[in-house]
Amino acid sequence: MQLENRLDSIIKKVRGYHPDPNITQLRDAYEFSRRMHEGQTRKSGEPYMTHPLEVMDIIADLRLDVASLVAGLLHDVVEDTETTVEDIRNRFGDDVAFLVDGVTKLSKFRFNTREEAQAETIRKMIVAMSRDLRVILVKLADRLHNMRTLKYMSESGQERKSQETMDIYAPLAHRLGLNWVKTELEDLAFRYLYPEAYYDIAEKVASKKRQRQSFIREVISILDDLLTEHDILAEIYGRPKNFWSIYRKMREQQIEFEQVFDILAFRIIVDERPQCYESIGLVHNLWKPIPGRFKDYIAIAKPNGYQSLHTSVIGPYQERIEIQVRTHEMHKIAEEGIAAHWLYKEGKAVPDQDDEKFAWLHQLMEEHQDHEDPVEFLESVKIDLFHDEVYVFTPQGDVLSFPSGATCVDFAYAIHTEIGHQCSGAKVNGKMVPLKYQLQNGDIVEIETHKNQRPNKDWLSFVKTGRARTKIRKAVRQEQRERSRELGRELLDKQLQYHDTNIRAWEKSGDLDKAASKSRFGTVEELLGAIGYGKTQPEDVVANIYPPKKKKEDDEPKKKDKPGTIGKLWNKLVDRKDTGVVVDGIEDVMVSYAKCCNPVPGDDIIGFVTRGRGLSVHTRDCNSVSHLERERQIPVRWANDTEVPDSARRPVSVRVYCTDKPGLLANISQSFSNSGVNISEAQCVTTDDRRAVNTFEVLVHNRDQLKRAMKDIENIKGVYKVERTSSGTSQ
Ligand code: MN
Repeated sequence: MQLENRLDSIIKKVRGYHPDPNITQLRDAYEFSRRMHEGQTRKSGEPYMTHPLEVMDIIADLRLDVASLVAGLLHDVVEDTETTVEDIRNRFGDDVAFLVDGVTKLSKFRFNTREEAQAETIRKMIVAMSRDLRVILVKLADRLHNMRTLKYMSESGQERKSQETMDIYAPLAHRLGLNWVKTELEDLAFRYLYPEAYYDIAEKVASKKRQRQSFIREVISILDDLLTEHDILAEIYGRPKNFWSIYRKMREQQIEFEQVFDILAFRIIVDERPQCYESIGLVHNLWKPIPGRFKDYIAIAKPNGYQSLHTSVIGPYQERIEIQVRTHEMHKIAEEGIAAHWLYKEGKAVPDQDDEKFAWLHQLMEEHQDHEDPVEFLESVKIDLFHDEVYVFTPQGDVLSFPSGATCVDFAYAIHTEIGHQCSGAKVNGKMVPLKYQLQNGDIVEIETHKNQRPNKDWLSFVKTGRARTKIRKAVRQEQRERSRELGRELLDKQLQYHDTNIRAWEKSGDLDKAASKSRFGTVEELLGAIGYGKTQPEDVVANIYPPKKKKEDDEPKKKDKPGTIGKLWNKLVDRKDTGVVVDGIEDVMVSYAKCCNPVPGDDIIGFVTRGRGLSVHTRDCNSVSHLERERQIPVRWANDTEVPDSARRPVSVRVYCTDKPGLLANISQSFSNSGVNISEAQCVTTDDRRAVNTFEVLVHNRDQLKRAMKDIENIKGVYKVERTSSGTSQ
């Protein structure tokens, strides 16, 4: 019965501001909630239903729409009873279901932080997650009632809730311009966080209560006379400031209670904006203003839309008092904040888009200025609050913000560079996800690392943050350099074998240092890297130390270490930009062309990952491919750009069978050069039957060019056959 009476009085309050509330739905929601919470009690021993009712009452104080009031009544049924969001949707519609679902989700998070920046991030996250400001307003109403009844909670619960209120919810109320909610939350939290300071201030404010009240009456009557004399109709209020702001002032300025003078604040509320300035002029004329305390928040509103003139003056008994002057409209906004901006239209709560004062909200909604239809406007507001950022948790509960689309790898690098480098897997909300998973608001992200893991070039294709990108690039380049130094070392060592020495001996004797300083690369590291990249050749490096002697023909090196093989290998190790070969997902790979098939651009090719010599490229039909380990074969393709620089032309052997006829060789050479093919070497062998076999070592840009040249040569009279051979001139 008591509960029903309470409901009736709240409905009366709703009728006071809402033109046409759906009372049937409100009563239905009440009945539903009461039945669901039947038998549950609050910690105070009262029936649980008192809580949803009081939350509804606060929502009515915020002057919200029917959906919000219904959501207030139902906000705990999903969390605390068998009811599902679907049940609510079926009975009360999408709007209510959305609000209840949002409040339920917000209630699941525990925020424990005192750090300023972190708290701001969480506040943003709450706004983003809510996707509809009404969710936050219902949540604030819930929190306010819980704070009002906090004395029934355990001590640890009191402290946690109070800290959270101070860090997150009071500032959130402030950002939304809900002044009375903010100050009440602050004072309630203050009481539990710093009980001694709280009761000390409360006592001191109360001790002079009678004296203070007569003082307040006196000031009000003086101000009233003054303004009436000048034909300004005004409402004037006076009250002590809230305890938390007194305490904060004491703490910030390191002063005692007695030194906080402007404990009393007066408010003058007038009809018109010019009267604000007129009134403050009259006040300053009467009482001496304190320099530096006059603030014009009318000309320049606070970001949350707050407008007023503030001043502090020396009052009638030499006591400092604070005076705020504002219009009724400004007052409404100051007290109700965002709630003052809802219009009631077809039962929907819609922010008043003509109102320029709500700077903070307007900033959020900037992109939707062109919506004519307020319903459509609200819809887009729901989705796009902070749409370009996502907020996620570490397992420890810290919140990090990322640009939307950021992945687990971005997260790993945000935690620590090494965690980024070594991240091998990720769990989101306890489930394994791919590293490229895109983070969603509210995700709890856990990164798994492995000491052998290295940054992967593929990551560059999906990371979103500059930090991750830079770190990955740097690490990949670093590894590339290390690998090329190793390779350079190996190649140089092999070369040194022909001089009966090796790299270690060179290191010991100082020859390596000498070779480095004689080269254009300066240091040993740079020199080895340059050899590995094919920028210089080991023979030249060695020649700097051991000037070339006359070749001894019989001093043929052992077959397995034939210098020509090595020489040709590193000759062909060149930077990617020169190779024209693209390996998907990999940049800067060291590429060499297999000597067995000598592929040229245009050939169908396949890559083979060698041990320590980068990537070897074969034609797909090359005989040796079938002998290569399958798991080391990777798909490669020629770069699309047809403009291959001259330095990247590929050597190919072409054998021409023809009659041994004077002038024919000249014709063949002419055909090559007509097609732009350079001959680097030619070998002619004549046979007894007046035939000739000419083998040309030529440099070509691509397969088409080679084909063209070969076709031309085929058409020369006296040529029997033209073929591309895979092995070089030596045969
Ligand atoms: Mn609740």
